[in-house]
Amino acid sequence: MATRMKLKLKTVFVLYFMVSLMGLVYALMQLGQRCDCTELVTSRDRTISRLREDLHHLQDQIKKLQTTKQTPKQPQKPSLPTIFVITPTYARLVQKAELTRLSQTFLHVPQLHWIVVEDSPQKTPLVTDLLMKSGLTYTHLHMLTAKDRKLKEGDPSWLKPRGVEQRNEGLRWLRQDREAQLGGDSQQGVVYFADDDNTYSLQLFEEMRSTQLVSVWPVGLVGGMKYERPVVEGGKVVRFHVGWRPSRPFPMDMAGFAVSLKLVLANPEACFDGEAPMGLLESSFLKGLVTMEELEPKADDCTKVLVWHTRTEKPKMKREDALQAQGLGSDPAVEV
Ligand code: UDP
Ligand code: MN
Repeated sequence: MATRMKLKLKTVFVLYFMVSLMGLVYALMQLGQRCDCTELVTSRDRTISRLREDLHHLQDQIKKLQTTKQTPKQPQKPSLPTIFVITPTYARLVQKAELTRLSQTFLHVPQLHWIVVEDSPQKTPLVTDLLMKSGLTYTHLHMLTAKDRKLKEGDPSWLKPRGVEQRNEGLRWLRQDREAQLGGDSQQGVVYFADDDNTYSLQLFEEMRSTQLVSVWPVGLVGGMKYERPVVEGGKVVRFHVGWRPSRPFPMDMAGFAVSLKLVLANPEACFDGEAPMGLLESSFLKGLVTMEELEPKADDCTKVLVWHTRTEKPKMKREDALQAQGLGSDPAVEV
């Protein structure tokens, strides 16, 4: 009985030993065997190439985004010369209406820099606010006209020139600002004097943009005429069609010419002479700058009227005054 038990125990032990040995051999065989990794490698390669594709796609998208982001930042036509428009203006009932009309015309002109010079002891809130909301590139200045140079109530308009000190202040700022700019393009541009009450065609600005020295064109409804204009023969200005003193050096209205910025900068003394005899204000500025032969005719050899010397009627305030006398006038807090 005891030997049978021993035998059984021995068998169990041997069996246990054999099974363990087989397990060990199997485990060793597994370790030593080369695994079949081809599938793993190909799936890894596939992932890498897919990621590469994604990367290229993203890089393309970034490139595209960068160009579209830059487009609106770049000026529409970077080579266009800037037109610097100098406008004298003064406080009166129609001022906001004039400046609104003017600013909305200028909004349609590319590369325009509006230099507004108020005839006032300081910048007024009305003009400051209007310019801020205009959407234009602008410079806001002020220069009060000396008392003895100002027209008095009832004076005829031809007695004294208007807007003289303001245009000169605009020129002073422009020269100082351009000298401070370092870029090669800082001298590229055109200077135009635009009164706040005239009417300007958009075409006029494209005509003047190519000005080399001084360009000229007709002005409508001025000087007691349907229009005044330079007369052009063989591409040159030979005389002027004007109603009064055609012998003046430059018998032209302020609205009828533009000057290249280069010429303005090259002649730092050139300005308007407030003391100039009647009708010679424009000549006082132009006479040192060009000769008649050098004038560049625009607007189809000066045959098209693209600017009008319109004048706004002074509004009558009879009813307003009557109501005000009764304490019932319009609310002064409402800006007109
Ligand atoms: N102006 C000014 N101060 C004045 C009168 C006029 O700054 O005391 C400005 C006015 O706003 C305009 C320019 O000077 O831009 C020419 O004035 P105005 O239109 O009265 O002159 P005109 O049409 O008679 O040439
Ligand atoms: Mn005017």
